[in-house]
Order: sequence, then C-alpha cells, then structure tokens
Amino acid sequence: MPACRGVNTPPSPAPDCRGVYTSRSPAFNIHKMILFKEHTADQLHELLAPLGVDERLARRLQSAVVRQSGGVPDELPEVRRDVLRRVREATSIPRLHVVEKAVSPRDGFAKYLFAGDGVEPFEAVRIPLLHRPGDEKYIVCVSSQVGCAMGCAFCATGKMGFRRNLATWEIVDQVLHIRDDSPFPVRGVVFMGQGEPLLNYERVLRAAEVLSDPSGPAISAKAITISTVGIAPMIRRYTRERRPYRLIVSLTAADTEKRRTLLPVENTHGLSELMEAVREYQEAVGGRMTFAWTLLQGINTTEDDAKRLAELTRGMPIILDLIDVNDASGTFGTADETEREAFRDALTRHVGAPIVRRYSGGSDIHGACGMLASRRIG
Ligand code: SF4
Repeated sequence: MPACRGVNTPPSPAPDCRGVYTSRSPAFNIHKMILFKEHTADQLHELLAPLGVDERLARRLQSAVVRQSGGVPDELPEVRRDVLRRVREATSIPRLHVVEKAVSPRDGFAKYLFAGDGVEPFEAVRIPLLHRPGDEKYIVCVSSQVGCAMGCAFCATGKMGFRRNLATWEIVDQVLHIRDDSPFPVRGVVFMGQGEPLLNYERVLRAAEVLSDPSGPAISAKAITISTVGIAPMIRRYTRERRPYRLIVSLTAADTEKRRTLLPVENTHGLSELMEAVREYQEAVGGRMTFAWTLLQGINTTEDDAKRLAELTRGMPIILDLIDVNDASGTFGTADETEREAFRDALTRHVGAPIVRRYSGGSDIHGACGMLASRRIG
C-alpha cells in the first residue's frame, strides 16, 4: 500500500455548487481548492487535467479517497510524485463529524447526528435490510438541507424552518461515514431526511452522481431514490435531464383543500400543476409512478380519499407507499390496524394499484420519517 497523506479540512466559506472554492475567498485567490466528494472521477479529471492528471489517475484518486476513505497517496505506480504533490496542494478532503449515534434496540435503525460546515447539526438514518442471513445490507436515508421551508404539518423538520442547503460533500459524506461504520454494505440511498431535495437541486443531483460513480461508492443509480413533496417545475427539469434515479412524490391528500392544510406546497404548486409534471415524468420514463401517502388517523384514510386518488391518477400506472405518521407533537395520530385495513380495501376497490406499507422505523430514537429535527437523543 502506498503511504497516504492525512485528511485535510476544507476552508470556509462554502464552495459553489460545483464544489470549487472561488477566488472570492482571500485565502484562495491564487489557486482554486477542489473538494473530493463533490465530483465524479470524470469531473475530477476535467478539473485536474491542467496538473497532469489523466482519466486513469482521476479514477485511481477517486477510488483511494472516496471509495476507500483514504487520502491522496504520496506514491502510485507509474505516476510522477510531483503530479501527486500538485493534486494534494489543489484539493481538499472534507469530513463530517459525528456528534451522536443512536441505535434502536427495537428495530436496529441507527440515527447519526452530524456536524458539517454550519453550526447546526443534521441527521442521516441507517436502515437495515435483512433479506436473508448472509445477504444483510443497509440503505441510508440522507438529509439534503438543514431544516426545511416546506412546513408539512406533521413533520418535525418542517417546524424548524429552513436553515441552509447542504453542500454536495456533506450529503455524500453522510453515506461514506455510515458505510465505514457498518458491518454490512450500503446498497441504496434515499433522499428522505431533512429538507426538500429538489430545492437543493444541483447539489443533490451532483451527490447522486458521486454516490453512483463506479470509481467511488458505486451505488446503483436504480437504488438511489429522490423524494419530493411536489416542486412541479423541478420535476419538469428532472424529466428533461433524464436523470436515472427513482423519483417518489408525496401526495398524502388527493384534493386541494385537504392537501393545503397538510402540505403548504399546495399553495404554490397545486395538484393540477403537480400532476401535469408527474404525468410528463411518468410518460418519459415509463413504469409505475410511486406516490407516498402518510397515514393520518381520521384525516386522509376514508373511502372518499381513495376515490379522489383514483380520479387524480386515472390512466397512470402507480404504486402507493403507505407510511405511518410519526408526530412527536401528538397533533396527528397513527391509524390503527382497522383503519389501515379499511383504507387499503378502499384503495384496492377504487385505485387498484399495488400498495406497499413502508415501515418507518427508529421512532424510539427519533429517527423515523418526519421526526428529524437536529436534536440529540442523550
Ligand atoms: Fe420538508 Fe419533507 Fe418535512 Fe415536508 S416532510 S417539511 S418536505 S422534510
């Protein structure tokens, strides 16, 4: 193994959305500081080519730093030492700090509280997928922002308000930290932590590119899921750009009035605009469109809700993910088994689509859907 140089910390202020510190920072008015974890190997090659880095070396560097969580090597076979020295001088390897980790004794979900570039910490959740002995794996639920401007009525993150967008490296490093801390591999990533991913579009999509880079973490693009509450113009952009990741849209109510009281985004991008964008997306990519529906006791689980959903999605092949609400404030109750089953039956009669009950674990460590609020457990 070649010797490795230690991990550098990034300078302040934050990089631009391409992950490059610009000359606006006085400390970097000559060189630009390029951050690993903000770029795929191809993008690194483009940025580092003036220093003598060819495509193969860019892939080897990406593998050493991002795949293996190491540093830029001092030596590599067939590479001049002065090229590696110049790469070290021009780059930085930022790292999050783990403020707290809590593992649920009930279901094995693990919540990590991270500190990044800002003062306020944020969470990611490790979700165990225990298919069969010998094939254990995880998916990681990452945050894309600290806080959230969307203000969904049943979500603790929404109550925080918007604090800031996370940088690409801060999103990528959530996965790398958890991968390095885990006994089994991370096979998937879901953007369902703090924040609305499509409102931090460039950084989130860049993070998905880095995470699926074959020279980096190599997580299959099909195993990366981006969840949105329904930012219609950004769904259109996503469709135009033909992104390969899975998109999930949170509906939770299929009529305007009800949705407005639960998801304030309805005031800006209403159901008709949203469904137009979703239909365009579904027609472009084919397959079934996945909608998420947070079950709120006595609010959105009636026969009428199922009928309205059927009307709204008529002619579109869909899958419906049903998720139990986790409202620590107690305003919204969890539907019991009888209510859930009655709603399922109504959905089967009126919508006739596959229904998946998505388990949202880690509620005992405040790690379940809707519970992330930058808080310590202990
Ligand atoms: Fe934001 Fe998602 Fe919470 Fe809504 S549910 S407030 S979009 S984090």
